[in-house]
Amino acid sequence: MSREVRVELMRPAQIVEAREECPLVFLPLGPLEWHGPHLPVGTDPLNAQEVARRLAREVGGVVLPTLFMGTERERSPEMLRNIGFRGDEYIVGMDFPANTLASLYFPEELLALVIRSYLALLERIGYRMVVLLNGHGAANQIATLERLAVEFCHTTSLRVLHLLAIPGYTRGEYSWSHATRGETAIMQACFPESVDLSTLPEQEPLANTQFAIVDDRTFRGEPTCDWTLRAEESPHLATPAEGEARFQAITQEFAEVIRAELANLA
Ligand SMILES: [Zn+2]
Repeated sequence: MSREVRVELMRPAQIVEAREECPLVFLPLGPLEWHGPHLPVGTDPLNAQEVARRLAREVGGVVLPTLFMGTERERSPEMLRNIGFRGDEYIVGMDFPANTLASLYFPEELLALVIRSYLALLERIGYRMVVLLNGHGAANQIATLERLAVEFCHTTSLRVLHLLAIPGYTRGEYSWSHATRGETAIMQACFPESVDLSTLPEQEPLANTQFAIVDDRTFRGEPTCDWTLRAEESPHLATPAEGEARFQAITQEFAEVIRAELANLA
């Protein structure tokens, strides 16, 4: 059996022992957010949680309870036109007008306060390094976490590292795709009962504006001519094996970075 890394299930003596062995703590986080009709709203934080637990078992440290919290901003006119809207709508994050349920995005300033308090508390109880394992790729979420990481690294004894839980992130080569094949595969691998592909129409391609399932190239300014999801990004192509392979790849990639940071601490 692998070592318990979920801090809420550990007794004080176990937590102290783990901290003395490795003064590292992971905080997985992300919002409850629309991920198409076929994926659970916790897709981003649940992905971060799985990556954090695998990393803790691999490199040491403990994992805090997942913080189901994240933020978003209004989309720019250019981005809206890339997705297939007119450009003058007020649309925040993935909350497209056709969605049947709004996401629970918190204000950016509130997220910052919660993370700031968490970091201060963790420093006070003797941790040396915190990894903010972020499941949500919104620009303002990343900026908020990066800003706090830089500030704490320079003004406290705590080393804070922000990692976006997407394979390739530390190399700068990664996909922004939302609720497409990749995220579907991830959820099939860790919470298979939470995925239901029958909620998607058989008829493809899927219109971006109708399902809020959007591929990486569209987000990067290369939409298809009819603003639909690319065939190769279809959630129907996802398999649990692909999700497991993604988890293994990201664990290997991030473990290397975290080990290097831990070596610097010592
Ligand atoms: Zn997501």
